[in-house]
Amino acid sequence: MQRIDHRRSARRLSRRDFVTAAAAASALLPRPAIAQGAAGNVVIIGGGFAGASAARALRRLDPRISVTLVEASETFTACPFSNLVITGLRDLKEQQFGYAKVAAAGITMAFSSATAVDTQARSITLANGNRLSYDRLVLAPGIDLRWDGLPGYDEAAANVMPHAWKAGEQTLLLRRQLEAMEDGGLVVISAPANPFRCPPGPYERASLIAYYLKAKKPKSKVIVLDAKDAFSKQRLFQNAWRELYPNLEWVSLSSGGKVTSVEPASKTVVTDFSRYQAAVANIIPPQKAGRIVELAQVADRSGWCPVDAMTFESKQQPNIHVIGDAAIMGAMPKSAFSANAQAKVCAAAVARLLAGQKPDEPRLINTCYSVVAPDYGFTVAGVYRPKDGVLVDVEGAGGVSPINAPASVRAAEASQADGWFNTITTEAFG
Ligand SMILES: Cc1cc2nc3c(=O)[nH]c(=O)nc-3n(C[C@H](O)[C@H](O)[C@H](O)COP(=O)(O)OP(=O)(O)OC[C@H]3O[C@@H](n4cnc5c(N)ncnc54)[C@H](O)[C@@H]3O)c2cc1C
Repeated sequence: MQRIDHRRSARRLSRRDFVTAAAAASALLPRPAIAQGAAGNVVIIGGGFAGASAARALRRLDPRISVTLVEASETFTACPFSNLVITGLRDLKEQQFGYAKVAAAGITMAFSSATAVDTQARSITLANGNRLSYDRLVLAPGIDLRWDGLPGYDEAAANVMPHAWKAGEQTLLLRRQLEAMEDGGLVVISAPANPFRCPPGPYERASLIAYYLKAKKPKSKVIVLDAKDAFSKQRLFQNAWRELYPNLEWVSLSSGGKVTSVEPASKTVVTDFSRYQAAVANIIPPQKAGRIVELAQVADRSGWCPVDAMTFESKQQPNIHVIGDAAIMGAMPKSAFSANAQAKVCAAAVARLLAGQKPDEPRLINTCYSVVAPDYGFTVAGVYRPKDGVLVDVEGAGGVSPINAPASVRAAEASQADGWFNTITTEAFG
């Protein structure tokens, strides 16, 4: 990979050039010079955007490294674009990917859940009874929902009030509920406090549900009850809502938006000040890193994993790296794009560490598209660098789409989102 001094090049690029460049190269770092004869045995747990990308990057960097990817499911279902599935604009099948091309790249696939990590013996145990040893372990398990995080909301409640924050059956359940709802019904979305997977996701979902209601059930309304006073790309979303969706209301934390409990039997959503009787309730609960991080003892009391910002090695356990949504990445948001960028940086660091070399200081990019209607999209982009052990923003790089852009720019960004999805899923799954 070509070395780029991003601090200089970012200043010369327009924001538009920047987003295009970011889609092609999410992590800017040199290819490691592999030491003579060095190799190693790397196990990666979690075959999502972070884990699958890391496995492929590691094989590309040094084919002598043995890479095993442990994944619970033989089919991965992607969350990005799943809000389009909920509103009937896309098929769930378009979200699904197998691992044949990952295996064809020389990666050993182990389809089972990892159930234990022995940090002393450097081995993991799988649900099928197999044990795998490692020189370095990469954890990329994504998120788990905090079933104790919102009174009344547990796994049974999710069958009535879907979260749809892990794509698959939950996505389809929310879609079926919207389709079955009578015109005039109230759709309630509960958005959690930070940090959580995909900061703009609840607002993209609200927009697309409002789009669906406007077309199919115009007497209906969508209300977002929020545990925050501010959110990602807020001005862009709110401008779009004013322009397109008078049937969408956002209630901030300070206006009493924080959901304090839910009552699934009656689909009631409760805040400190009001009770909302929903026809459809989409509850996005508080989250934490996927459970395996607790078993590996790499999570802190927040439920997320502190890591070194250069290598993503755990600050709690040597030889274990954590990437993607599960890790605490400072200013970098929890997104598929971030997960992919971190995967490439982590793979380069692991290859260097196995070869007895010092990792380079990386620059990472995140770009996140939001689509509020099929022909209306916008982006936020950022560049990040390690500072004092965490990732911080590179000042002056990135930014959001222009606030007053014409419809042609919004339409172009919506169609560029398609290109982004194809690029990132090809990079992860082949
Ligand atoms: C509605 C919605 C919209 C989104 N839109 C966007 C978007 O437009 N752009 C964007 O960049 N991001 C988007 N995201 C965020 C994106 O989906 C996540 O940030 C991304 O999936 C994180 O990647 P990951 O690899 O950390 O986790 P995941 O992609 O969730 O992968 C984790 C994998 O680990 C496996 N796993 C977990 N534990 C184990 C175990 N013990 N053993 C074996 N396997 C295990 C799981 O089966 C899973 O396949 C969106 C998210 C949502 C919910």
